[in-house]
Amino acid sequence: MAITERLPSIGNQKSIIWRILLPLVVLIVLSNAAIIAIIMGQLDAQLLDSTKRNLINESELQAVQFRANMLELTRDLQFLAETPPIQGLIRAKNNNGIDPLDGSTEQQWISRLETIFSVILKAKPKVQIRLIGHDGVELVRVDRYGQKGDIRLVSEAELQNKSQSRYFTETIALAAGSVYLSEIGLNREFGEIVEPTEPVIRAATPIYSDEGRLFGIVIINHNLQATFDALKALAGVEHPFLIANHAGEYLVHPESNRSFAFEFGRSSNIAEDFPAAKDLLNNPKTDVVSGIAEADDHDVVYALRSFSYNPENGHNRLILAASHDFRNALAFKDRLLNKVYFILCIVLLLITVVAVYVAKRIASPIVAMRNALKRDGLATRSEDLPIHDDGELGELARVFDHLLQELSHRQDLLEKEVVERKVIEKELRLNNQKLASLNKDLEQFTYIASHDLQEPLRTVQSFVELFTQNYDEKLDDQAKVFLGFINESTERMTALIRGLLDYGRLGAESSVALVSCEKVVADVCADLALRIADVGGVVEYSNLPVVMGRETELRLLFQNLISNGLKFSRPDVKPKIVISAEKIEGVWQFSVRDNGIGIAGNDFQRVFLIFQRLHGRDKFEGSGIGLAHCKKIVELHDGNIWLESELNKGSVFYFTLGNKIDG
Ligand code: ADP
Repeated sequence: MAITERLPSIGNQKSIIWRILLPLVVLIVLSNAAIIAIIMGQLDAQLLDSTKRNLINESELQAVQFRANMLELTRDLQFLAETPPIQGLIRAKNNNGIDPLDGSTEQQWISRLETIFSVILKAKPKVQIRLIGHDGVELVRVDRYGQKGDIRLVSEAELQNKSQSRYFTETIALAAGSVYLSEIGLNREFGEIVEPTEPVIRAATPIYSDEGRLFGIVIINHNLQATFDALKALAGVEHPFLIANHAGEYLVHPESNRSFAFEFGRSSNIAEDFPAAKDLLNNPKTDVVSGIAEADDHDVVYALRSFSYNPENGHNRLILAASHDFRNALAFKDRLLNKVYFILCIVLLLITVVAVYVAKRIASPIVAMRNALKRDGLATRSEDLPIHDDGELGELARVFDHLLQELSHRQDLLEKEVVERKVIEKELRLNNQKLASLNKDLEQFTYIASHDLQEPLRTVQSFVELFTQNYDEKLDDQAKVFLGFINESTERMTALIRGLLDYGRLGAESSVALVSCEKVVADVCADLALRIADVGGVVEYSNLPVVMGRETELRLLFQNLISNGLKFSRPDVKPKIVISAEKIEGVWQFSVRDNGIGIAGNDFQRVFLIFQRLHGRDKFEGSGIGLAHCKKIVELHDGNIWLESELNKGSVFYFTLGNKIDG
């Protein structure tokens, strides 16, 4: 049916799919992006945190290991200090070279001591063990020497006086059982650094005789290379091993020329690589700091630990640096991110497929419905619509079906109405034609009647006049009165016929134009000035509008109403006429109010009929056509005229001028 061709397109399947798919995909992408951003942000912080924690733990382990080594060194020393040959030597020395207990000579005890020193040297990575007398002269000294580290008993001639050495003066100031630990440096022989370099620490303890006199000190030069290697192993291959002394000078650095630089008169300080190290160096109470440092083109996470390896000496502190290339941690994050993106893509793909499928399922019955409606329009059958479907679609189809039935029913009604109207219109047209021809006939009749009637009337009037002139003397008084009546009647008839003629002509010759009512009333008042003055009356008006209308007719309208107001006045009351206008709902409504004799309620309609008068001519002059004129004029202007009145008080004549002629 053609009606559907005018319907807008219902839309296609694609748009429904997009409407479902697009928001879904946008929602998923946005929510996932937000989740990923939050997780990754957290992950970054978490990674950094856990890396720092690992590094702190790593340095803790290294510190524990180092302290354990130092404890072992201390124990070795204490063991040596209490070893029987030293006590024997003391006894022999105090007894002119012979031990009073078993008769051993001083030399015998020394050689026994040398054996013990050699055994310990073999078992542990020590460089040197010595017994130094209270005067600072070495008594026993066992060394390692050469590349292989062979053990050597130093001959008496080679024994040196160490009374000026710092370790000697510091150790002899200690109480029995206390241990002196030196700062860590490179092994030296006669003041020269031994090649290949060996990191060493000196541990020494004083020895007292039973009487409490200082006998001397036992001192071990301990090679720390093995300890450093062990610490390095704890750091693992991924982390560089860095250790510095209490002043921050590197003892071990992956770049070999930076290790023990201070021993060669240079400086290589940990604070150059890790700015936070200054906190540790300046504040001995701080033991751990961590942070991120820039190295070449990447970030390095690090933890620095300052620890003491000798509770008795504050200077015996070391600083460990554990660091980790943060790129490794981030690489893990990147791998994770790639996996997440991959999964997200798969999820999006799956959702797209599902959404397309769902959208098609939703769209296909709608498309079928659209096709049926396009094809059959209002004639679409219920069977072609999914009216038995559950849910919204079924509901929609039922509503459509109902609408279609309603529409086709209304169309039937409309078609019927159109047919009926056409019949009525035809009848109306015929009636109008009849009416127009009747009107024309009537006009013709009125014209002819009034025109033709005037002719004999004039003849009567002429002959009455002739008669009066010629037979005046022969006529008695009664005849003269009769003739007067005839004359009067003919004059009245003339006036009636003229009035009728005017009535018929109203509106026939005028045209519609803008008319100032104010001016029209002013003109009428000027015309009636004599009469107004005669009766001592007054006409008031103001703010009368300009309207679209027929000027001549409107003039007649005001003239009739004002004249009547002047005419039908009470004997003892001077006539007062007030004219005003107001716009009510877009239509001008005029009122002409007088203070005359008034009109009884049951005559309100009658006065507008032609030739209808309420009073005899003996009381008020007139032909009874003025208000009929007014009515016709107002109707010519699509308006109404009516009145309100009270006997002996006055009347108000209202009239409206219709919308169409509103100026
Ligand atoms: P006419 O004035 O020639 O008699 P109209 O058609 O003007 O004819 O008036 C019809 C009748 O209505 C009048 O004869 C009079 O009785 C009554 N009438 C008209 N205007 C007034 C008025 N302002 N006050 C009282 N009566 C009036």
